[in-house]
Amino acid sequence: MIRLLVADNSKKSILEETSFGGLPVKEIDKIVEWPKCRTCEAEMQYQGKIKTDIGIELIFMCNNDPGMCDDWDAEGGGNKAIIIDEKNLEFFKPTDAKLSIRETEYGVTIAETENVDYDSARENWEGNKRDVLGQLYGEPSWIQGDETPECDCCNKPMRFVAQLEEGPDHRTAMNFGGGGVAYLFDCIKGKTAKFLWQS
Ligand SMILES: [Zn+2]
Ligand SMILES: [Zn+2]
Repeated sequence: MIRLLVADNSKKSILEETSFGGLPVKEIDKIVEWPKCRTCEAEMQYQGKIKTDIGIELIFMCNNDPGMCDDWDAEGGGNKAIIIDEKNLEFFKPTDAKLSIRETEYGVTIAETENVDYDSARENWEGNKRDVLGQLYGEPSWIQGDETPECDCCNKPMRFVAQLEEGPDHRTAMNFGGGGVAYLFDCIKGKTAKFLWQS
């Protein structure tokens, strides 16, 4: 079974659900610093959040000077994936909203399909294909070959969580090199995550 992430405008602005763009979430009353890029030190851009069996996985990526900060690399410091508990959440605002968020938000419905892999599920999707935003769990469909990252706590290949498309509208899409695809991985034991993209 393939679980497609499909854009659904009726599911916007829900704290504990999968969505792309808009504002990230944090635990209520917890002081959290907005993630910064290791290379240019600017605030990263919030990309989206994925609800999983171990919490809410938030994705940030530097978009300050696209292509210059190794933002495609799981280890380069140009992106960051964070896992938080799904309880007691509130929205979380950056200091520099222009740089750090994409205002257009996409809510998500999970569509379970009986295809053998992600590519055929996407191909066979009967609605608008641009509304297919990726897949949850399953197997990654690599563009450039397997780059499964290793976990820093267990030194083992991480679990594949989600594959993401850039989004339905080119003006507000995530920037994975233009037509690229992103991949999110996690470690259930350490509750850590890594993110990368290929194009
Ligand atoms: Zn940067
Ligand atoms: Zn681990």
